[in-house]
Amino acid sequence: MIERKPFESPAFGGLPQRKPPWLKVRLPSGEGYAATLRVARGRKLHTVCEEARCPNIGECWGRKTATFMILGDVCTRSCGFCAVKSGRPSGLDLDEPRRTAEAVRDLGIRHAVITSVNRDELPDGGAGIFAETVRRIRELSPGTRVEILVPDFLGKREALAKVWGARPDIFGHNVECVARLQRAVRSAANYTRSLTVLEETKKVGGMLVKTGLQVGHGEAWEEILALMDDVARIGVDIFTIGQYLQPTREHLPVRRWYTPEEFAALRQEALKRGIPHCMSGALVRSSYRAEQPFE
Ligand code: SF4
Repeated sequence: MIERKPFESPAFGGLPQRKPPWLKVRLPSGEGYAATLRVARGRKLHTVCEEARCPNIGECWGRKTATFMILGDVCTRSCGFCAVKSGRPSGLDLDEPRRTAEAVRDLGIRHAVITSVNRDELPDGGAGIFAETVRRIRELSPGTRVEILVPDFLGKREALAKVWGARPDIFGHNVECVARLQRAVRSAANYTRSLTVLEETKKVGGMLVKTGLQVGHGEAWEEILALMDDVARIGVDIFTIGQYLQPTREHLPVRRWYTPEEFAALRQEALKRGIPHCMSGALVRSSYRAEQPFE
């Protein structure tokens, strides 16, 4: 049992927040980074790496891998942790699946992760575009593993079935935070709906399922363990745990910095509960080194 001394954030309420030393990252630069940028811009694609201000962009793009964000760059929801623009999106880019598949091919990505904004105004929430993107990647890069990280599609079974029909190798959907904090962190989503999406995908869709949690929102250790019990019970295959970082002063403040030892202890707790793969670390994100469980 490790001793848990909280590394409390010195700043609550939106003031600048000093990061602990283990959150130092590599600055974006180099040939791989430039190539990834060129392909994304050339194909007029969005990446969650940029839109969500991901700290790993230097490392991932340096390895010529990016997580493309489809269905535009405006989200119909407005979660307290997320830097993606929110508002009313206009139209639907039906050519986006083709360009996304071409970008995956051009970069030689062997494990592609595709995510999206929420498009709650669309009858299928954008599920059709997800399915088409998976199919196009398969056509152009038959040897590439395809992982999707999807919204909850408001729990609509027809939308989920569209995505299941495209048979992605991994179906990801994040619970994001513990049950008690859902309203504060992602007000338009809910814990039970997210668990149901994952459970149905596992049972009915019959595919590998993955979910992710951010810590640092003020959750108790026991609440994290309770969440692990839930995701283990529904048969989640891959679980990620990472530190929440405040993208701007307008977003939720970091309530607590978890230490590397705590992340290691959380991983052990997940494995103890029978979750087959768990990546846990300050900089872990759902798409970070997503190929690792398969290597
Ligand atoms: S962890 Fe994911 S979102 Fe972040 S830079 Fe890497 S691929 Fe992009």
